[in-house]
Amino acid sequence: MAVGSFIDVPKNLLKEIEHLEQLFTIETKKLKEITDHFVNELEKGLSVEGGSIPMNPTWVMSFPTGYETGTFLALDMGGTNLRVCQITLTDQKSEFDIIQSKYRLPEELKTGEADELWEYIADCLMQFIETHHGDVSKLDKIPLGFTFSYPATQNYIDEGILQRWTKGFDITGVEGHNVVPMFESALSRRGVPIKLSALINDTTGTLIASAYTDPKMKIGCIFGTGCNAAYMEDCGSIPKLAHLNLPPETPMAINCEWGAFDNEHKVLPRTPYDAKIDSDSPRPGQQAFEKMIAGLYLGEIFRLVMVDLHEKDETRIFENQDISKLQRPYSLDSSFLSSIEEDPFENLSETADLFRNQLGISPNSAELELIRRTAELIGTRAARLSACGVAAISKKKGFKECHVGADGSVFNKYPNFKARGAAALREILEWPDKTDPNEEDPIEILAAEDGSGVGAALIAALTLQRVKQGNM
Ligand code: BGC
Ligand code: MG
Repeated sequence: MAVGSFIDVPKNLLKEIEHLEQLFTIETKKLKEITDHFVNELEKGLSVEGGSIPMNPTWVMSFPTGYETGTFLALDMGGTNLRVCQITLTDQKSEFDIIQSKYRLPEELKTGEADELWEYIADCLMQFIETHHGDVSKLDKIPLGFTFSYPATQNYIDEGILQRWTKGFDITGVEGHNVVPMFESALSRRGVPIKLSALINDTTGTLIASAYTDPKMKIGCIFGTGCNAAYMEDCGSIPKLAHLNLPPETPMAINCEWGAFDNEHKVLPRTPYDAKIDSDSPRPGQQAFEKMIAGLYLGEIFRLVMVDLHEKDETRIFENQDISKLQRPYSLDSSFLSSIEEDPFENLSETADLFRNQLGISPNSAELELIRRTAELIGTRAARLSACGVAAISKKKGFKECHVGADGSVFNKYPNFKARGAAALREILEWPDKTDPNEEDPIEILAAEDGSGVGAALIAALTLQRVKQGNM
């Protein structure tokens, strides 16, 4: 039996597969419709009235030249880890040295008290500095770029008023507040010799780090636990900054926060599973686009489909088996789906092992076909929707040819994500078929440089330069 041939699949399951295909497949026409709406929403976000996509100005106001120098610390507060780096931008064009340590971000901190989070971060930073510099009492303050990958309002580059937690974080007392003083007071309580120079988003870091080594890079994207993008706008096209009277051609990196696209449900083809993810999340009504695409949710969408098909009279998959493990919310992450899509065997034996070992379920061969197809549908939808965001920024800015720097676990590890995204981009932007398969696409989404390390250091360097020149 060949994968996808469904020869042995009974009628009721075949019907269910067709139904899932209808729910999750997004045709070219729909992709174009989503993209056009996306372009409008990007514009709206820049307007004084605003829209659902925040389009946050980041005060990153130039691309690097490659000749930046200096030693900086970078702190990345990601969804899973804390990463601390020391980056030295060397005299050599576009070259740097990096040392780094990773610390686990304990799960309970993500939904705990703010103070505990900041103290934990301060401790990690202290440990890093003590390891690499020795006696902290003799040190001058080291400049730090803080990658804080959540939507934040910035009136200055060293400010970040958290608009809302995303990616399952739910720490009280932070939303609506500037996180920088909270962070700095934890540092000073601990005597950590650090001066925060810039608070940055991971997408902005990705954009700047990628442009450091490749001047064709115009958009920075993250397809990981969350999803989002940043690009360089000119201040003349940002009506909500008009009151500052900045010269219209002044560049300003915009952190789109496109995870919030279509929070008002106008265009995305949501399934009942998407609706359930949203209503069960700590922030219902928010991050509608992200909840259909990002790594945090892909496994959960799949899990909800499986549970539903177990309960439905028409299908009753895994009948008479103990599905208690499958019933635990968020028990499957996107690497579970990756493994299913990567299974090279015609009989899907690796998928069967995965279900047996991780969930205590033994799927029959028809169920295995359904499992594989469901994973493909969810993964494909995520990649195709992601392409709409890239296409929308490109259309808005009139980018005909450029590189897009992308990072994140889904982009880097999910099988076929890149190819599926590239195919969708081709459909949306109506490029002619390639004559030579090795030919580059006009707009290529490529693996980015390390945004929250090198990018954060570069942004700290660019900020210090700007301060020296006396510009804001
Ligand atoms: C956050 C963004 C971030 C993205 C990728 C989203 O949940 O709101 O700020 O860039 O995740 O990490
Ligand atoms: Mg990250």
